[in-house]
Amino acid sequence: MQRALLATIALAVSAPLYAASALTYSLPGGPQAVSWPSSSFPVHYQIERRVTTVIPDGDAVVDRAFGEWASIPQVSLSFVDDGVVDHATAGRDGHNTISIADDLFANQNYVAVTTNWWDDSGRMLEADIQIDPSVQSSGFNPQQVVAHEAGHFLGLDHSAVISSVMFPYVTKGTNIPLDSDERVAIASIYPRADPTLSSATLSGRVLDDGGAIFGAHVVAADMKGTPVASTLTNENGEFLLRGVPAGTYRLYAEPLDGPVEAANLAGVYRTAANKDFPTQFLPPMQVENGKVYGSLVINANGVARLNPMWIGSCGLNGIDASLSSKPLVVHGGQSITIAVAGEGFIGGLTKFEVMNPAFKRVTDFKYAGNYVAATFAIDPAVGSGSATILVSNSPSEQATLTGALRIEDAVRRRAK
Ligand SMILES: [Zn+2]
Repeated sequence: MQRALLATIALAVSAPLYAASALTYSLPGGPQAVSWPSSSFPVHYQIERRVTTVIPDGDAVVDRAFGEWASIPQVSLSFVDDGVVDHATAGRDGHNTISIADDLFANQNYVAVTTNWWDDSGRMLEADIQIDPSVQSSGFNPQQVVAHEAGHFLGLDHSAVISSVMFPYVTKGTNIPLDSDERVAIASIYPRADPTLSSATLSGRVLDDGGAIFGAHVVAADMKGTPVASTLTNENGEFLLRGVPAGTYRLYAEPLDGPVEAANLAGVYRTAANKDFPTQFLPPMQVENGKVYGSLVINANGVARLNPMWIGSCGLNGIDASLSSKPLVVHGGQSITIAVAGEGFIGGLTKFEVMNPAFKRVTDFKYAGNYVAATFAIDPAVGSGSATILVSNSPSEQATLTGALRIEDAVRRRAK
């Protein structure tokens, strides 16, 4: 008989998070990602009646949130909503449930929490989602909260990509679409077709003089700075990115030094040492579908002083910045003064750029307090998605804020 193991993943309100990796735990056979076996689909769930009283149209909201994952073209996932039931509680009872948990927020500062059970082979057996009753009244978007928890339900850990739904911290406001990072991550767990044929595989190691770096955030950014896919290195410093679409990428490794840290992750990654190292890029590489790019080595020697952690916008005069570890939402055609802050910033020296050529810097850098700001004009045809900010003190001292910008196009904004 196999033991059932469980873990609980919570969505915190005002803390940061990093990396769309699979939930990975130490099992008898070694570190193992946990996921639903193909025989469990369609996966059934029940919705507690209180979900429909706390959240208007709550059962439809839950279905839409799960549907976001199931509708990704590269993914093979299916669910059955077994309907609204009067008494559904979290706990190992053979039913996957979405229920309301009183005082989740008051006691633990969590908006929602997912509990997973799996066997010694890493096969998911059950998952339950609990939501605080204040979710709607506090201004959170219930669909976004459930979509985040559905990611855990399916076996995803948090993502260090700031713009992602799987980022550990939830923002208030309208629902945001799933980010490229988590779409690629879920498709590599539940692929519709053999991903080695329809996309590229990138693998390698992140090393320094001391050997392997465990818990490095490895990102494949396209030439518009979009973090298309990311993952974390294992204890041997190895990384594996599957499902990367053909294109040209800048592959880089950055430390898990905030806004997402090992403490925001579950399972084995929670024990990663938060080792600091300078962010390192490989030269741009063109990848083709159906090919494996193995033995990529990112050398991350040196001392990391620069660590961007916060982003925000400020008046065109470059003062009064409002900074946070949440993504800054920008629109095509906009002129906006972007401010970036963190550790190791040097007045008069630290610069930054948006790794997307549609952003043209139109002012000099201004320095105030612990931040640097500049105004950018955004091409109206920028296209929606996310983008990364690259901060530098010198050509050899660079660091990224991955997915710091969420770009919405101008047309959609007017239509709103
Ligand atoms: Zn979470």
